[in-house]
Amino acid sequence: MNLLYKSTRNAEKTVTASEAILKGLADDGGLFVPVTIPKLNVDMGTLKEMSYQETAYAVMKQFFTDFTEEELKSCITKAYDSKFDTEEIAPLVKADGMYYLELFHGATIAFKDMALSILPHLLTTSAKKNNVKNEIVILTATSGDTGKAALAGFADVKGTRIIVFYPKDGVSKVQELQMVTQKGDNTSVVAIHGNFDNAQSGVKAIFENKELAKEMDAAGYQFSSANSINIGRLVPQIVYYVYAYAKLLKNEEIAEREQINVVVPTGNFGNILAAYYAKQMGVPIAKLVCASNENKVLFDFFQTGVYDKNREFILTTSPSMDILISSNLERLIYLIAGQDAVKNQDLMRALKSQGVYEISKEMKENLDDFAAGYATEDQVKKTISEIYKSTGYVIDTHTAVAASVGKAYLEENKDERKTVIASTASPYKFARSVMTSIDEKYDTLEEFDLIAELEKISCVKIPKAIEEIRDAKIVHTRECDADKMEETVKEILNV
Ligand SMILES: *Cc1c(COP(=O)(O)O)cnc(C)c1O
Repeated sequence: MNLLYKSTRNAEKTVTASEAILKGLADDGGLFVPVTIPKLNVDMGTLKEMSYQETAYAVMKQFFTDFTEEELKSCITKAYDSKFDTEEIAPLVKADGMYYLELFHGATIAFKDMALSILPHLLTTSAKKNNVKNEIVILTATSGDTGKAALAGFADVKGTRIIVFYPKDGVSKVQELQMVTQKGDNTSVVAIHGNFDNAQSGVKAIFENKELAKEMDAAGYQFSSANSINIGRLVPQIVYYVYAYAKLLKNEEIAEREQINVVVPTGNFGNILAAYYAKQMGVPIAKLVCASNENKVLFDFFQTGVYDKNREFILTTSPSMDILISSNLERLIYLIAGQDAVKNQDLMRALKSQGVYEISKEMKENLDDFAAGYATEDQVKKTISEIYKSTGYVIDTHTAVAASVGKAYLEENKDERKTVIASTASPYKFARSVMTSIDEKYDTLEEFDLIAELEKISCVKIPKAIEEIRDAKIVHTRECDADKMEETVKEILNV
């Protein structure tokens, strides 16, 4: 069966999976969604014996139906290899009564690697399938982790260029160093004077600019997106929820068909949406717990049905979640509106013009699969410290948001189901925040001394990604104002 995709803002037109991957965003500004979410056609008994790569094939082949078996398997093999420092790719660690699904064993030690190590291969395969001759220019706005993961994925991939925009003062030291030291002739990194939402809006505006697209085409370029709005990122993220459930079953932590909860530290709503898709495919997930930091626009939305981005933007110690416009939420809005593109478009227009929208009572009733909570900066610190002191396990700030919210959710609701926490970054990536949560005394140390201390207390070897930036040369120094992104892109491409 051939699964087609349509835009969340247009009910008429359909495209193939490879076309959707190539375009990133639909022409009407909507996001591509599968016409229906397929049911898993492999049973858990079979899945629990599968490797990560085999699970990836079993899930992805149901979404990317216009890829041949050979094409898809080749993408998977190239993506999930020794770039990951563990054969399991996504190991489950039991600590403090929860199951931590470690999604940070890839090249850049954050969960973005799970999808961004395969996206370049999906994209170049899609280009071949659709006879694209232009060079593909990946434009990416990043709150810190996507940027490096995309750079690492696309560096020196033939037929592609990549330009990454990050908020100058909105990322961690390690995150910034990782990006500005990126090698590869086809890579560019730009610090913008603004926050992540400015960067993301700027990139969206470039994508929606039809005149610019024509100019680019004449120069032999076309834009595509590596942001989590690309369906080629969303689908690979479904895989690890299927894999985690199957592994819990294999390890006899759960019985057949036993329901579990999943808690996801959320920013752009991509990761948790993938968990929701996994549930729709038939994975026995009870609640999807959406965990926010102090930028709790999603928590408020789930409470009230009102999405309101008109509020102060707070810089927290979990910067990859410092987001007020969660792009992927549009895919959920579309689903709970009964796949009504017109209704969805009205709400998204209101968001763009007024920064706020309210969903109907009927739509809100369709949100029962979700629970939501948020963690304050104090709670994040306390969670890191408590879990370390009681178990020796060190988690990063984003994962701590989820751990804090997950624990509170289980207590308040007397919910005793087994619970998986999406562990989205290595503590090494946010060493200063993590270490000072455990003890303030570490704050006087330099970054790499902190890292050495972290190795001592956690007994987890310093990852390669950290060793690499220790002495790497800074090669990207470009900066620009948030309203000059288009000019900057043209400058970089000589158009
Ligand atoms: C991107 C990111 C998140 C948020 O994920 P979304 O899919 O944007 O909701 C959480 N934690 C880390 C470490 C991230 O890099």
